[in-house]
Amino acid sequence: MAPVSALGDGGSSSEWRRVRAAVLAAEPLCRTCGEPATTADHIVPRKHGGDDRPDNLQPLCAPCNLAKGDGLVAEPSRDW
Ligand SMILES: [Zn+2]
Repeated sequence: MAPVSALGDGGSSSEWRRVRAAVLAAEPLCRTCGEPATTADHIVPRKHGGDDRPDNLQPLCAPCNLAKGDGLVAEPSRDW
């Protein structure tokens, strides 16, 4: 089982783009700082069992998303 890339939100799938667009359409401002959001962040990262459902996604601007990262970035091979 190949580990998901460190940037799980890479946006390579059209399905993810559609989900992200829906999140931003529903809530266009960053949930952390209130600036216009440009990304949809997984509240629970997919590698920690989160999924792409809207209730696990929050709009963030790029700086906040970078600051948060993809949750805990250490030990990428750990199986939660
Ligand atoms: Zn922000």
